Amino acid sequence: MKSPDELTEAFRRRGLKVTPQRQAVFRALHEHPGHPTAEAVYDDVRVEMPTISLRTVYQTLNDLAAMGELRQLSFGPGSARFDPNGDDHHHLVCERCGKVIDVYADTSGVEVPPAERHGFVVTTTQVVFRGTCADCGASPGAADDPTHHLDHHNHNQHNQQEETIHA
Ligand SMILES: [Zn+2]
Ligand SMILES: [Zn+2]
Repeated sequence: MKSPDELTEAFRRRGLKVTPQRQAVFRALHEHPGHPTAEAVYDDVRVEMPTISLRTVYQTLNDLAAMGELRQLSFGPGSARFDPNGDDHHHLVCERCGKVIDVYADTSGVEVPPAERHGFVVTTTQVVFRGTCADCGASPGAADDPTHHLDHHNHNQHNQQEETIHA
Protein backbone atom coordinates (compact mmCIF):
# COMPACT_ATOMS: atom_id res chain seq x y z
CA MET A 1 0.00 0.00 0.00
CA LYS A 2 1.26 3.46 -0.86
CA SER A 3 1.84 5.91 1.95
CA PRO A 4 -0.89 8.45 2.79
CA ASP A 5 1.25 11.18 1.19
CA GLU A 6 1.65 9.22 -2.03
CA LEU A 7 -2.10 8.56 -2.18
CA THR A 8 -2.83 12.24 -1.59
CA GLU A 9 -0.50 13.05 -4.47
CA ALA A 10 -2.15 10.41 -6.72
CA PHE A 11 -5.60 11.84 -5.94
CA ARG A 12 -4.52 15.38 -6.74
CA ARG A 13 -2.92 14.31 -10.00
CA ARG A 14 -6.31 12.97 -11.07
CA GLY A 15 -8.02 16.18 -10.10
CA LEU A 16 -9.80 14.57 -7.16
CA LYS A 17 -10.36 16.56 -4.01
CA VAL A 18 -8.39 15.45 -0.98
CA THR A 19 -10.32 16.12 2.19
CA PRO A 20 -9.19 15.41 5.77
CA GLN A 21 -11.74 12.55 5.75
CA ARG A 22 -10.13 10.95 2.73
CA GLN A 23 -6.69 11.34 4.23
CA ALA A 24 -7.93 9.59 7.36
CA VAL A 25 -9.01 6.67 5.14
CA PHE A 26 -5.54 6.61 3.54
CA ARG A 27 -3.95 6.44 6.98
CA ALA A 28 -6.27 3.66 8.14
CA LEU A 29 -5.42 1.58 5.07
CA HIS A 30 -1.74 2.18 5.56
CA GLU A 31 -1.71 1.37 9.25
CA HIS A 32 -3.98 -1.67 9.03
CA PRO A 33 -3.26 -3.46 5.80
CA GLY A 34 -4.90 -6.76 4.97
CA HIS A 35 -8.21 -7.20 3.20
CA PRO A 36 -10.58 -4.92 5.11
CA THR A 37 -14.25 -4.40 4.35
CA ALA A 38 -15.46 -0.82 4.00
CA GLU A 39 -17.14 -1.25 7.39
CA ALA A 40 -13.84 -2.21 9.03
CA VAL A 41 -12.12 0.85 7.55
CA TYR A 42 -15.04 2.97 8.72
CA ASP A 43 -14.73 1.65 12.29
CA ASP A 44 -11.03 2.41 12.18
CA VAL A 45 -11.37 5.95 10.87
CA ARG A 46 -14.19 6.86 13.23
CA VAL A 47 -11.81 6.61 16.17
CA GLU A 48 -9.97 9.74 15.02
CA MET A 49 -12.78 11.27 12.97
CA PRO A 50 -16.17 10.50 14.57
CA THR A 51 -18.13 12.58 12.03
CA ILE A 52 -17.03 10.68 8.93
CA SER A 53 -19.81 8.84 7.07
CA LEU A 54 -19.72 5.29 5.77
CA ARG A 55 -20.63 6.77 2.40
CA THR A 56 -17.44 8.84 2.31
CA VAL A 57 -15.41 5.75 3.20
CA TYR A 58 -17.07 3.77 0.39
CA GLN A 59 -16.51 6.57 -2.10
CA THR A 60 -12.84 6.89 -1.19
CA LEU A 61 -12.31 3.13 -1.44
CA ASN A 62 -14.10 3.00 -4.79
CA ASP A 63 -11.98 5.87 -6.10
CA LEU A 64 -8.84 4.07 -4.99
CA ALA A 65 -10.07 0.90 -6.71
CA ALA A 66 -10.77 2.84 -9.91
CA MET A 67 -7.21 4.21 -9.74
CA GLY A 68 -5.81 0.69 -9.37
CA GLU A 69 -4.55 1.31 -5.83
CA LEU A 70 -6.94 -1.27 -4.38
CA ARG A 71 -8.57 -4.35 -5.77
CA GLN A 72 -12.13 -5.14 -4.83
CA LEU A 73 -12.61 -8.79 -4.00
CA SER A 74 -15.55 -10.89 -2.97
CA PHE A 75 -15.16 -14.15 -1.13
CA GLY A 76 -18.81 -15.06 -0.93
CA PRO A 77 -21.61 -13.71 1.23
CA GLY A 78 -20.84 -10.55 3.17
CA SER A 79 -19.21 -7.29 2.23
CA ALA A 80 -16.62 -6.85 -0.45
CA ARG A 81 -12.98 -6.78 0.68
CA PHE A 82 -10.45 -4.23 -0.49
CA ASP A 83 -6.98 -5.54 -1.24
CA PRO A 84 -4.05 -3.12 -1.38
CA ASN A 85 -1.69 -5.84 -2.61
CA GLY A 86 -1.32 -5.26 -6.34
CA ASP A 87 0.97 -8.25 -6.94
CA ASP A 88 -0.35 -11.33 -8.68
CA HIS A 89 -1.45 -13.49 -5.79
CA HIS A 90 -4.06 -15.86 -4.46
CA HIS A 91 -5.93 -16.15 -1.20
CA LEU A 92 -6.45 -18.47 1.72
CA VAL A 93 -9.90 -17.88 3.17
CA CYS A 94 -11.08 -19.25 6.51
CA GLU A 95 -14.66 -20.41 6.25
CA ARG A 96 -15.23 -20.00 9.98
CA CYS A 97 -13.84 -16.56 10.87
CA GLY A 98 -13.51 -15.02 7.41
CA LYS A 99 -9.75 -14.40 7.72
CA VAL A 100 -8.06 -13.72 4.37
CA ILE A 101 -4.35 -14.32 3.80
CA ASP A 102 -2.27 -13.61 0.69
CA VAL A 103 -0.52 -16.59 -0.86
CA TYR A 104 1.92 -16.86 -3.68
CA ALA A 105 1.45 -20.15 -5.47
CA ASP A 106 2.29 -21.30 -8.97
CA THR A 107 -1.04 -21.81 -10.71
CA SER A 108 0.36 -22.03 -14.23
CA GLY A 109 -1.03 -25.59 -14.40
CA VAL A 110 -4.57 -24.35 -13.80
CA GLU A 111 -6.19 -24.12 -17.21
CA VAL A 112 -9.66 -24.11 -18.64
CA PRO A 113 -9.94 -26.96 -21.16
CA PRO A 114 -10.41 -25.51 -24.69
CA ALA A 115 -13.91 -27.06 -24.95
CA GLU A 116 -14.97 -25.15 -21.79
CA ARG A 117 -13.73 -21.67 -22.72
CA HIS A 118 -16.91 -20.40 -24.41
CA GLY A 119 -14.86 -18.03 -26.51
CA PHE A 120 -13.18 -16.45 -23.47
CA VAL A 121 -9.64 -15.21 -23.59
CA VAL A 122 -8.35 -15.79 -20.06
CA THR A 123 -5.98 -13.07 -18.89
CA THR A 124 -5.64 -13.68 -15.15
CA THR A 125 -6.23 -16.56 -12.78
CA GLN A 126 -7.12 -16.10 -9.13
CA VAL A 127 -7.43 -19.09 -6.89
CA VAL A 128 -9.27 -19.02 -3.55
CA PHE A 129 -8.18 -21.78 -1.20
CA ARG A 130 -10.93 -22.25 1.37
CA GLY A 131 -10.66 -24.05 4.64
CA THR A 132 -9.96 -23.48 8.30
CA CYS A 133 -7.25 -21.19 9.69
CA ALA A 134 -4.85 -22.17 12.47
CA ASP A 135 -6.81 -20.13 15.04
CA CYS A 136 -10.04 -21.90 14.19
CA GLY A 137 -8.53 -25.37 14.35
CA ALA A 138 -7.64 -27.29 11.24
CA SER A 139 -8.70 -30.78 12.30
CA PRO A 140 -12.34 -31.68 11.59
CA GLY A 141 -12.74 -32.90 15.19
CA ALA A 142 -12.08 -29.38 16.50
CA ALA A 143 -15.47 -28.34 15.20
CA ASP A 144 -17.21 -30.52 17.77
CA ASP A 145 -17.02 -28.61 20.99
CA PRO A 146 -15.84 -31.14 23.58
CA THR A 147 -17.29 -29.02 26.40
CA HIS A 148 -20.76 -29.50 25.02
CA HIS A 149 -21.81 -32.17 27.48
CA LEU A 150 -19.97 -30.80 30.47
CA ASP A 151 -21.58 -29.71 33.70
CA HIS A 152 -21.54 -26.39 35.49
CA HIS A 153 -17.98 -26.06 36.68
CA ASN A 154 -16.72 -25.91 33.14
CA HIS A 155 -19.24 -23.38 32.02
CA ASN A 156 -16.85 -20.43 32.04
CA GLN A 157 -14.36 -22.21 29.90
CA HIS A 158 -17.10 -22.97 27.44
CA ASN A 159 -18.06 -19.31 27.18
CA GLN A 160 -14.48 -18.30 26.66
CA GLN A 161 -14.11 -20.67 23.74
CA GLU A 162 -17.27 -19.34 22.18
CA GLU A 163 -15.96 -15.81 22.43
CA THR A 164 -12.69 -16.72 20.80
CA ILE A 165 -14.46 -18.32 17.89
CA HIS A 166 -16.64 -15.31 17.25
CA ALA A 167 -13.94 -12.69 17.82
ZN1 LIG B 1 -10.44 -18.81 11.12
ZN1 LIG C 1 -4.68 -10.26 -1.21
